[in-house]
Amino acid sequence: MGMFEGKVALVTGGASGIGVAAALRFAEEGAAVVVADLNEAGAEAIAAAIRAKGGRARAIRCDVASAADNDAMVAAAKQDFGRLDAAFLNAGAYAQTGFEESGTATFDNMVAINLKGAWLGLQSVLPALERGGAAVVTASTSGVIGLNVAAAYSAAKHGVIGLVRSTSQSFAARGLRVNAICPGPVATAILGVAEQAPIQPADTLALPDYGGVLLPQHIAEVALFLASPRSGGINGQSHVVDAGYLASYPPMPE
Ligand code: NAD
Repeated sequence: MGMFEGKVALVTGGASGIGVAAALRFAEEGAAVVVADLNEAGAEAIAAAIRAKGGRARAIRCDVASAADNDAMVAAAKQDFGRLDAAFLNAGAYAQTGFEESGTATFDNMVAINLKGAWLGLQSVLPALERGGAAVVTASTSGVIGLNVAAAYSAAKHGVIGLVRSTSQSFAARGLRVNAICPGPVATAILGVAEQAPIQPADTLALPDYGGVLLPQHIAEVALFLASPRSGGINGQSHVVDAGYLASYPPMPE
């Protein structure tokens, strides 16, 4: 039996990087998966790959900065698969500009996708999740410490951590949970890595080097854990997944 047999998961940002790894792993663990992304063709390719392996999946175009799109994504899960148990609100976008170079448009865009997107996603999934279900939001280590070279992104990701804390009681009151993951560097398009690493048997994932670049699947495995009843004692927390880099200061010499 997979961890999510008979259950339904949705993944935003499911067309690339961390979202792809999570969509494929949710499906391997038995979930029907709604693959949501601004990139509809990319989302459809991942849903098709899941179906080709005998799984259940559908794609939907979703701009996470739109309340209507978030509602439509949740409605799609209910309509096609009858329920929603896990929501991995993972879509995000990065702008490498420091504070003095960032115009208001950059700030608005970073907040709209990374923070408002998470807010709207939580608004949509809260009333829809089955009791015992969970939401997981992708923040960043740059939501824990300031990232000088990406000030607006970093500020928005700090907001995501506050959002998860300040919504946790709303989730708890309905028998649900919400947590954040704060990845360090992950080998995805955001870091200029075009090729998606293949999914490996979860128990054979190699330990990354201290402070090194993680695989999307390293983050996906934590997302599945936080979305499953195995993490039933954890609510409203943010979890740094960065191969130890932020844990102690100064960083280990290279
Ligand atoms: P990625 O670029 O590979 O994937 C991001 C996906 O989000 C893309 O498919 C993109 O189309 C989608 N997306 C962007 N804007 C959207 C919108 N408005 N609505 C719906 N979908 C949208 O990057 P990734 O590394 O897989 O990023 C996933 C999450 O991880 C993001 O929230 C990112 O901020 C976070 N993160 C990544 C890293 C890293 O080093 N890669 C580190 C920390 C946090």
